[in-house]
Amino acid sequence: MLIYHLFWSEKGNRSPKLNSFVFILSCSITAIVCMSFAAKVDYGFQFDLRHIVLIVGTLSGGPVAGGAILGVMNLYRFFIGGGGLIPSFIASLTLYIFLITTYKIYIKGKIKTKMYLAFFYSLIYGIGWIPYFLSIVPNPKDYTSYMVTYELCTIMGTILILYLLDVLQSQVRLAKELVNAEKFQLIGEMAASISHEIRNPLTSTRGFLQLLQSKNYSEQEQLLYLDIAMRGIDQANHVLTDYLTFAKPSIEKVQILQLEEELLHALTLMTPLANLSNVRIHYTKQSKTFYIIGEKQKLNQCLLNILKNCIEAMPNGGDLTFTLTPANKHIQLHIQDTGIGMSNEQIKRLGSPFYSTKEKGTGLGMMVVFSVIKAMNGKIDISSKRNIGTTFLLTFPLAKKT
Ligand code: ADP
Ligand code: MG
Repeated sequence: MLIYHLFWSEKGNRSPKLNSFVFILSCSITAIVCMSFAAKVDYGFQFDLRHIVLIVGTLSGGPVAGGAILGVMNLYRFFIGGGGLIPSFIASLTLYIFLITTYKIYIKGKIKTKMYLAFFYSLIYGIGWIPYFLSIVPNPKDYTSYMVTYELCTIMGTILILYLLDVLQSQVRLAKELVNAEKFQLIGEMAASISHEIRNPLTSTRGFLQLLQSKNYSEQEQLLYLDIAMRGIDQANHVLTDYLTFAKPSIEKVQILQLEEELLHALTLMTPLANLSNVRIHYTKQSKTFYIIGEKQKLNQCLLNILKNCIEAMPNGGDLTFTLTPANKHIQLHIQDTGIGMSNEQIKRLGSPFYSTKEKGTGLGMMVVFSVIKAMNGKIDISSKRNIGTTFLLTFPLAKKT
């Protein structure tokens, strides 16, 4: 029963019907095993812990599951035969009736109430059949040690299992609440940051468009303002793309990509920015071609985010070096800058949303990088030294070109 709760009930989105079937099945197997390997005594009576199954099954599976377990248990008891048949039927039925009448109190109760009830439940079954048993055996005193062991096992077993289940269930509930809380917090933070990130460029775009309305600027100035206005819109668009790539990390249009081609494309896009901050780009073209599986647009986004960070880490110029090396069914891409670098603490926080040390940073770039690489079954390793530079090592599984 614990195995059911640990490894089945909370995993995956299974139908409630299948869940309760598996639960009843696991309880029935437990009860049958209990009864098959019981401590048998004379006159067809046996000492076993099947009622613990009935108690736990009814309390954690509900009255219907409990009824099913009761049925299976008594059928099997009938099949075993022997003297204790009728008393055990009466005892289990009595226990079941007690269980369903106090079921709601148990479920809603605090842990203390639950434990008192557990103690009470554990006694009922024994009371149901032991007096009858003692009345028909010729020398009841001989069975004292049996009785004591049996009652102790029953009380301790019931309380222990119900306690464990309660702890387990509250853990699961807590974990769920935590995940939800985190999610809502993230969504809230994202919405705030994104509206901020989009409003800024839109405001500047609006300002420059307004300037254009009053026609007292030269054509050259007008063109400049138009250009700035458009850049604002591009910036807003860029923030949205970053966000959407994060929101949908799975690869949808899977393609075979030539890694070098994608890299060169990203480099072409970034060269103007690199020139602006005196960053020299070093890359030697490969003689071989390497193919990987992924989505063109997302890989592009991922490379751009890394390159942009590297260039931003070298405001006074530096070197940005790329190396492609094949390594046993994988291809490795080293990206090395000679920028400001990061401390170990910073490396650890890399990729968590909104972590940024830049005044105008979104803190979303690396998060996108991480999720894209993960979706492509790739790996990213980062090493960095303050004021020396940072190396990103991306590893992707090689694809066979068909
Ligand atoms: P943003 O660039 O908007 O700040 P990122 O997620 O792209 O957000 O990066 C998060 C932070 O990681 C940056 O603010 C920066 O402090 C650090 N970082 C990322 N790449 C580098 C790099 N190549 N060198 C130094 N610091 C880096
Ligand atoms: Mg960035």
